[in-house]
Amino acid sequence: DAMGFDLDDPVTVSQIEAERARWRTAQWRAEPIIAGTARSSSQEQVSSPNDPGDVVGTVSAASDLDIEAALSDAGIWTETVGTRAAVLRRAADLYEEAWPELFALATREAGKTLPDCVAELREAVDFLRYYADEAERRDGVARGTFVCISPWNFPLAIFTGQVAAALAMGNAVIAKPADQTPLMAAAAVRLLHRAGVPRAVLQLLPGSGAHVGAALVADARVAGVCFTGSTATAIRIDRAMAESGNAAAPLIAETGGLNAMIVDSTALPEQAVRDVVASAFQSAGQRCSAARVLYVQEDTADTVLTMLKGAMDELNVADTWALSSDLGSVIDGAARDRIEAHIAGHEVLHRVAERGGALSVAPTLLRIDGIGVLDEEVFGPVLHVATFRAEELDQVIDAINASGYGLTFGLHTRIDDRVQHIIDRVACGNIYVNRNQIGAVVGSQPFGGEGLSGTGPKAGGPDYLDAFGQTSGWAEAP
Ligand code: GLU
Repeated sequence: DAMGFDLDDPVTVSQIEAERARWRTAQWRAEPIIAGTARSSSQEQVSSPNDPGDVVGTVSAASDLDIEAALSDAGIWTETVGTRAAVLRRAADLYEEAWPELFALATREAGKTLPDCVAELREAVDFLRYYADEAERRDGVARGTFVCISPWNFPLAIFTGQVAAALAMGNAVIAKPADQTPLMAAAAVRLLHRAGVPRAVLQLLPGSGAHVGAALVADARVAGVCFTGSTATAIRIDRAMAESGNAAAPLIAETGGLNAMIVDSTALPEQAVRDVVASAFQSAGQRCSAARVLYVQEDTADTVLTMLKGAMDELNVADTWALSSDLGSVIDGAARDRIEAHIAGHEVLHRVAERGGALSVAPTLLRIDGIGVLDEEVFGPVLHVATFRAEELDQVIDAINASGYGLTFGLHTRIDDRVQHIIDRVACGNIYVNRNQIGAVVGSQPFGGEGLSGTGPKAGGPDYLDAFGQTSGWAEAP
């Protein structure tokens, strides 16, 4: 039976503990995985964001020769869609079997708590199975070689989602994982190859965006680019593709957000506070879906904010490996410094006293007048708080839309007419009512934004694969 990962069940939890403990000091290796022979030479040690003394493994960045070899050896996946789908489903099974290793990697390389490890693995296998199913419903033709550039905040799930979508349609993939998380990407590629993806169809080039990523997206042999990361990088990629005569190749980009949540005076405070805490602080706020700005109606602001501060003080900011950790370290020292500098420039409303792992940032509330004072996404456990009066509601929505981003939006209210009024006006890809605003589920909550937040189509939704192929129509329903 597949492991259920019910973290409320003590027997399951002790089983998880015992299994992942075997990987507590394991070492991994990432190097170019290409159809030919890799030529990279330099080796660099990688240490955990939880503990600089915890060496997780070594990485060899791709050289110019590796990049050229990958581009010239890349070959589309010529097997039938049925075979491709079967291989992707086999990969999903292998991922599930490899859970102890993948959990340990997610915690040690990327600073993920155990609940986040479970979510990460589930989303990855959901992507594999969902895109396998979706590909079989299509009569699509591969475009050619896709470059997939993935982020460190979902080193397995988003890496796998991008790659699986491109592979399902029969494309060749050259994957360039985030600089911070090449070891997880290499583990995923090994599992995909073991499941039966041919070597020339899926190649991996670890390295920096400035070197490896930039060389790949500017190459005219590339038929498409799939990118998740910052808006600024997506714009650079778009420009590089256009300038290299590759303007016809699609760029599928999922980028940043300045996500707001509105809590009006009819909201249930306990429910709203629970959902604010999850939205702003789970994964140490390192989700592009995370709540960044909370608008609380003035009438109930004292109650809601007092409860919110109390709930924040209950968070266990601990060493990420610890079972009880609610949030651990942020991804690296540069991220920690950026977040702390942002906090230092604002009025602190509340800050949790507790500190956890080496690079943890204490969950923080900052007071602002409105979303308009923010010009960039702060990717960490920081929530900005503003209050509004009932008659200002439409102005608040206008200000949220004026940010230019449109990824997620949260609303807590018990007035039905207001729900409709607001969701008709707010320009956001994913809108969540009376719940948290993170953790979109593959297949039922397609995920993606508008405006500065991405190009679409939405990941985990029925239109996504169309962007990866030259679709000539729909297959007959079985
Ligand atoms: N899909 C994730 C969620 O709904 C966010 C993805 C991201 O951070 O890029 O929370």
